[in-house]
Parts: sequence; structure tokens; C-alpha cells
Amino acid sequence: MSPVVPPLIIDSAGLGRRLAELAAISEAPAPVVTRVLFSEADLRGREYVRRAAREAGLTVREDAVGNIFARWEGSDPSLPAVGSGSHTDAIPNAGLYDGVVGVLGAFEALAALRRAGFKPRRSLEIVMFTAEEPTRFGLGCLGSRLMAGSISVAQARALRDREGRSLDELRAAAGYSGPLESVRLPSGYYHAFVELHIEQGPLLEAAGVPIGIVEHIAGPSSYRVSVVGEGGHAGAVLMPVRHDAGLAAAEIALAVERAAKTSGSPDTVGTTGVFRIEPGAVNSVPYRAYLEIDLRDTRLDSRECALTEIRRAIAEIGPRRGVAIEMTEINADPPAAGDARTIAVAEAVCAELGLACQRMVSRAYHDSLFMARVSPTTMIFIPCRNGWSHRPEEYASPEHIAAGAAVLAGTMARLAI
Ligand SMILES: [Zn+2]
Repeated sequence: MSPVVPPLIIDSAGLGRRLAELAAISEAPAPVVTRVLFSEADLRGREYVRRAAREAGLTVREDAVGNIFARWEGSDPSLPAVGSGSHTDAIPNAGLYDGVVGVLGAFEALAALRRAGFKPRRSLEIVMFTAEEPTRFGLGCLGSRLMAGSISVAQARALRDREGRSLDELRAAAGYSGPLESVRLPSGYYHAFVELHIEQGPLLEAAGVPIGIVEHIAGPSSYRVSVVGEGGHAGAVLMPVRHDAGLAAAEIALAVERAAKTSGSPDTVGTTGVFRIEPGAVNSVPYRAYLEIDLRDTRLDSRECALTEIRRAIAEIGPRRGVAIEMTEINADPPAAGDARTIAVAEAVCAELGLACQRMVSRAYHDSLFMARVSPTTMIFIPCRNGWSHRPEEYASPEHIAAGAAVLAGTMARLAI
């Protein structure tokens, strides 16, 4: 049986050069990559992305929040398109592969298909999503949330950065106008969506497998907890009369760990990543504590079960220690499941290319978490050294990047026929 997709040659050297060129557009000196939404570096990065898309023969349009769409029109443009894409914004002190491989790699995937003489029936479209990283507004995946209708326009308008500037103010300064309502995709816009990304974990490298196919994306949730007790002199306030906010907070952090471990799902993870006590002096009983908790899972029921357990522990710790505890939700997104048919296509392409692959869970969130709400979706993962990400040492080999681009090309082509 002849392959559905013609043999492809990924221009690995050209792709590597473009990755390096985009990495050089940064707010910090190389090898550090910092490109925060609507910063000067982000704006220059966007210019680079538009140019790279045009060089790949794609037609560029942008929406009101700055999502960039690069399209190869199919022979039947009335059909829903096959989508791909990722982000090029980078948190402070990041590396050059997170997100960017899924944008520039996707351009190369389509360029390789074009060089091979492929003619898509469905249109192929690459998206560079606005603000996947939460650096500016404290909320990740802004562009894909708006596209999927997972955040209301009113909620988006209410966002403020640390300097108090609104999304409307910042997007206008960046040259983006038009109603935010127009960002939402019409229903059925994508026939399927496939995001290429570095794994940001160690599993593929450890297994020696070049490709991961994502069947679940964990749903993140986060909470802030404020504990108010009673302070005093560390020598003068005797133990039986203490209301130590720090110790109550420590019990809460341990309860988070216990709840995650006993939720019934191996994918539940709970982290107390922010833990501050006041006044923070060696000879003073902590009178106040502030925690931020991150709770994730691939299943909503076990995540809810862990959350219930944390709330139950808090309800018990407060009165027992005589402290006031308040817990508020910062954000809670449901997990997403990969689409079985799209996963099967990606696996078939790996087999055709002679590349080993394994199914995996994405424990970080991605724009695909929101695209999965409006389109059959999966992700293609490639290994990254030591699982490192969000740091300048982040590294993926040219061979793995080329393999990922080839699998993406083959998957998009099969879905577009
Ligand atoms: Zn990313």
C-alpha cells in the first residue's frame, strides 16, 4: 500500500536557524529568552512569526487579541480546517523551545508538505496563540481561552497587569483593535487540532522514545489561602495559649499532599508553592500566613475529591488552632481528553515513518487544553533534555524537532485529505 502522504524532507537546518533567530529576540541577553506579552520583544517576535509564515507560503491574518493565523487554503475551503499551533511568548528567564517549536515547527511541516507536492483538500492553519504564559495578567492561555469561549469578554476586559493596565489598553498599544467578541471561533471551525510541543518532562528521554501522543491534558486549579492567628514574643507566649498561623499553614500544606496522594487517581498532584509567614522574625510567633496551592488532575472527579478533603482539613484545623482561615479559588479549568481518532492518525503516521511513539498525559497545560473544548485535539510531544523547561538550559535535539515536525506534517496531511 502506498503511503497517503508523499515522503517528506524536513529542513532541519533551516528550522534550527529560525529557532535561533527568534530566540535572539528577547528582553534578556542570550541564551536567556524572555518575551512577555505585548513587550517590545513580543512585538518584534510577532513580526518575525508573520515573516516566517509568509516565507512558508502561508497567508497571515490576526484577530483582535493578537492571535496570529497562518493559512494554506485547501482545494475545498468550505470544509473545516485542520489546525495546529502553539505560542511564542516566554516567561522571564526561559529557554528557546517551549511553544516556539510548535509554531516554527508547524510552518516547516507545511513547507515540507508543499515541497513534496501535497495538495490539501481541507485548509491547513497554524495559530500563534496570544499569551499562553500567565506572566502579564496572571492567567494563562488568554488567546485560546477567548477562541474557545472559555473566558467571557467581560472577564478578559477586567484583567489588569501589575501596573494596572488593562488588556484593551495594552492590545491597542500593540496595534490590535476590534471587538474581543470576534475572537471566539465559530462552532466547528476546526476539523481537528494538533499541537507540537516539547514534553517539559523526563519520560520520553528516559524511555528513549522520540514521540509522545497526548491522550489527556491535566486540568489545573489554584487557590489562595489566608491564615490569621495571633502573634507575640517567642519567649513570652507559652505553648498552650498560642494561635500560630505558621503552624496552621504547615498543617494545610501537609493536608494538600495527603489529599493528592489519597484521591484515588495517580494523576492527582497537589503543591503548596507559595508559603509566606509574617512577621518572619526568629523571635516572633507568626500571626499571619499566606499560601498558594496548585491542584491538578486528568480527571475532574478525583481532583474534586482532593479539593473536598483539603476543605475538610481546613475546617478542622481552624477551630482546633484558634485561627481564621479563608480559602479562595484563583482559577479552575477542567481537564481535557485527547480525541481518539486524531490520536490514531498520529500513531499511524509514526508507524509509517518508523518512529517509536507512546501515549502520554500532558501535566502542564497548553493552548490545546482549550482547543480541545471546541475541536477534536491531540498533542505531539518530543523529548527535552532532563525534562528541563522554563529555564535557559531547555534543549531539544534537531533530530527530535525534525521528527516532531514530520509527524505533525503527516498527521495534518492525513486529516486534510
Ligand atoms: Zn508551552
